[in-house]
Amino acid sequence: MGIFTSHQLPEPVGDTAPPMDEHPARIADILAHLRQSVNARITHPRRFRMQQLKALEKMLIEREADFVQALADDLGKSATEARFSEIDFVRAEIDYAQRHLAEWMDPVSVKVPVALQPALARIEPRPVGVVLIIGPWNYPMQLVLAPLVAAIAAGNAAVLKPSELAPATSGVLARLLPQYLDARVYAVCEGGVDTSTELLANRWDHIFFTGGAKVAKVIARAAAEHLTPTTLELGGKCPTVVDNHLPATAKRIAYAKFMNSGQTCVAPDYILSLGDTDALVDRLEKAITGFYGREPMAHPDYGRIVSQQHFDRLSALMGHGDVVVGGETDTATLRIAPTVMRNVDLDSPLMTEEIFGPILPVVEVKGFDEALDFIAQRPAPLAAYLMSENPRLQAIFSDRVQAGAIVHNAPMTHLIVPSLPFGGVGDSGMGAYHGRFGFERLSQMRPELSKTTVIDTMNAIYPPYSWAKRKIINKLM
Ligand code: NAD
Repeated sequence: MGIFTSHQLPEPVGDTAPPMDEHPARIADILAHLRQSVNARITHPRRFRMQQLKALEKMLIEREADFVQALADDLGKSATEARFSEIDFVRAEIDYAQRHLAEWMDPVSVKVPVALQPALARIEPRPVGVVLIIGPWNYPMQLVLAPLVAAIAAGNAAVLKPSELAPATSGVLARLLPQYLDARVYAVCEGGVDTSTELLANRWDHIFFTGGAKVAKVIARAAAEHLTPTTLELGGKCPTVVDNHLPATAKRIAYAKFMNSGQTCVAPDYILSLGDTDALVDRLEKAITGFYGREPMAHPDYGRIVSQQHFDRLSALMGHGDVVVGGETDTATLRIAPTVMRNVDLDSPLMTEEIFGPILPVVEVKGFDEALDFIAQRPAPLAAYLMSENPRLQAIFSDRVQAGAIVHNAPMTHLIVPSLPFGGVGDSGMGAYHGRFGFERLSQMRPELSKTTVIDTMNAIYPPYSWAKRKIINKLM
């Protein structure tokens, strides 16, 4: 288990910090140390939060090349994709938080019922304490650092556990974060299931998990032991209903589907085609060739599958229908060409499990209602997409489909709008973040009421409850 070693432990706050020796620091020691710093309230002032956000931004600017290289090593991500979908994404979150932090932190005054007046009532966002952030491998940097931005903004300490399946990125985070951020309150613990299990045995104030539903249940069970609140950012099968066949339709679907080789939680998982499916498949093929050329597996902008296990799983999925575009695989480089399938077996894993790779099944449906029923019969996805210019269909889709997000005509773009909440519903997760939503998710929105005892305006409501008092109480409340 590769975790922080004790010589990396930060300067103690107070006298009771864990002893420094040559042995790996235990997670419990790291946590105790962080908690001690939080109790000393060092994360609370806005100035500290702003400094840390700035330091995080500095790390992303100065060490961009380290991250770009790590993401290429882990997933074959092109430098452009690494920048905009990971590094710049986090920088945009930081920038947004910096611009809005003062307003987010401001207590909000609320009205007090007449019976309690005069009194002041307000809601004040308070840090919750120490947040554990566990991330997946597909956007291994963005999906631990964007929650970290929320944790910093909310005035919390945090421990990051990046995915062991993206070891290069995990290593860079473990090496660089302590160089830039205040190590008294932020730490990185590297490792796999063992590390996670040890982390989860401890009491946290919030667990922010991004990953699959199976592991989410392990997280939720562990959190229940300590009654720790969780945010669970999960996946699912995002449907894409295609009504129109404008030139942009196939391009937008192919763009969202094949970025990061389909290893994106909000990538279109499958298409429900309402119209001319031959024409749609034709346009998808043209879009793929337009993006990645005739040999996509050799194209520098096209990434690879994360591991042999996922490569084998995805290769096997192609056996559950007809491959009509792509289908080529290369074990040596773990690459799978952008692939479109038709006549797929609806009861096979291709259509019952999240694909999470560059395979796009196209299912023909007879009409819009059949498409809506198809979606309704399956677990709620993280996002549902409709490609249609018909306002009536758009309105019905928004009304009838249950999903983490509804997007018309631009799959996946919703997550780059920092003022929109990002999260799932039902099987695709609970709790949302990004921008203000992340800040509030990791804050306690604490109510505060203040009243004077100099004049007792509450005489009218104290017992005994005479007939006259009952009338007053009923009127006031
Ligand atoms: P995963 O659930 O296998 O692993 C996620 C994290 O959990 C990793 O850090 C891993 O080390 C840890 N983990 C694994 N097994 C564990 C166990 N038994 N106990 C404790 N911790 C454990 O997910 P993954 O394969 O890394 O990522 C893919 C999944 O994540 C997909 O389902 C995808 O849809 C989802 N995802 C969701 C979002 C989102 O924002 N909603 C984003 C990206 C990925």
